[in-house]
Amino acid sequence: MEPRGVLMTYPMSSYLQQQLDNRFNVFYLWNITNRVEFFNENSGSIRAVVGDTNVGANRELIDSLPALEIVSTFSVGLDKIDLEYCKKKGIKVTNTPDVLTDDVADLAIGLILATSRRICECDRYVKAGLWKKGDFRLTTKFSGKKVGIIGLGRIGTAIAKRAEAFNCTVSYYSRSQKPESKYNYFPSVVELASNSDILVVACALTEETRHIVNREVINALGPDGLLINIGRGPHVDERELVYALVEGRLGGAGLDVFENEPNVPEELFGLDNVVLVAHVGSATVETGKAMADLVVRNLEAHFSNKPLLTPVV
Ligand code: NAP
Repeated sequence: MEPRGVLMTYPMSSYLQQQLDNRFNVFYLWNITNRVEFFNENSGSIRAVVGDTNVGANRELIDSLPALEIVSTFSVGLDKIDLEYCKKKGIKVTNTPDVLTDDVADLAIGLILATSRRICECDRYVKAGLWKKGDFRLTTKFSGKKVGIIGLGRIGTAIAKRAEAFNCTVSYYSRSQKPESKYNYFPSVVELASNSDILVVACALTEETRHIVNREVINALGPDGLLINIGRGPHVDERELVYALVEGRLGGAGLDVFENEPNVPEELFGLDNVVLVAHVGSATVETGKAMADLVVRNLEAHFSNKPLLTPVV
C-alpha cells in the first residue's frame, strides 16, 4: 500500500489528532523546527493536508508538497486555502459544512443578547459588588427588532430562523437574491444597514467581501445599531469599527472574529457596549467531534477511491 502521509498544520483538535494518528502517518507542522529539512525528507509521502482557520494551505505549502492530492479543512470557511491553485493542480478540497451551522447561529444570537442586554457588563457589575449600591441601568430590547443578515447561506439562514422566533423582521443581502426566501432582500449592504437595528455578518470571506462592512455601512447602521460578526475578521474594516465605537457613531458590537487574530484592538477592551469572544463560533465538544469525524471520513473516502462526502473542489 502507498504511504498515507497526512500533514496537520495547526493543533486544532486533540480528538482529530488521535483519529488521524490511528489511521494515517501524521506529521505536525507546528512541531517542525527545520522545515526545509523536513520537506526534503518527507514531502514525497505527504498526500493530504489537514488545515483550519489558523493555518490552511497557501501556494507556498502546496508547492512544498509534490505528492499532495487532497486538502481537508477543519472548517467550513475556505479563505485560508488557495482554491484556484488547488483547482489548477487537480488537488481536491473538502470542508465541514452543516455540522457547525447550529453552533455558529446560536453564538450569533448569544452575541446579540449579550450586547443588547449588556449581559457581560451586568455580570461584572454584580461580581464587583455594585448592585448593593444601586440597580443596573436599563438596556435595549432584542425581541421585535429589525435584523439584517449579510450572507443568507447555511449559517445566515439558521440565524434568520432564530431571529424569527424573537419576532424580529429579517432582511438580507447576499451574492444573489433568493426568490424562494420569505425574508426581505436589499440590493446593497448600505441599504440593508440603513434598514436594520442589528447587522449580522455571515458570508464567506473572499476578495469581494473583504471589508464589506466599511465606514459607510457602519454610519448607515448608526448610533443605535449593533454589529455582530461571526463570519471572518477581514469582513469588517476594524480600524473604522474602532473609530465608530469610540466616537459613538455605532451603538455596539458583538465580535467573534478579528482581522489579526489572536490580536484584538485594545481600544475595544474598555468599551462596555462591545462583547468580545475568541473565534469560538463552532467550538463546542459536540461540534468539534462532528467536524473531526467529517475530516477523517473525507480522507478515508479519498484514500479508498470513494466519493468525497463534502467536496469543494
Ligand atoms: P455558505 O452556506 O456557503 O454561505 C455563504 C454565504 O456567503 C452565501 O449566502 C453567499 O451568498 C454569501 N456570499 C459569498 N460571496 C458573497 C459576496 N460576494 N457578497 C455577498 N454574499 C456573499 O457558508 P456557511 O456555512 O453559511 O458559512 C458562512 C461563513 O461563516 C464561512 O465562510 C465562514 O467564514 C464563517 N464561519 C465562521 C465560524 C466562526 O467560528 N465564527 C464558523 C463557521 C463558519 P449566495 O447565497 O448568494 O451565494
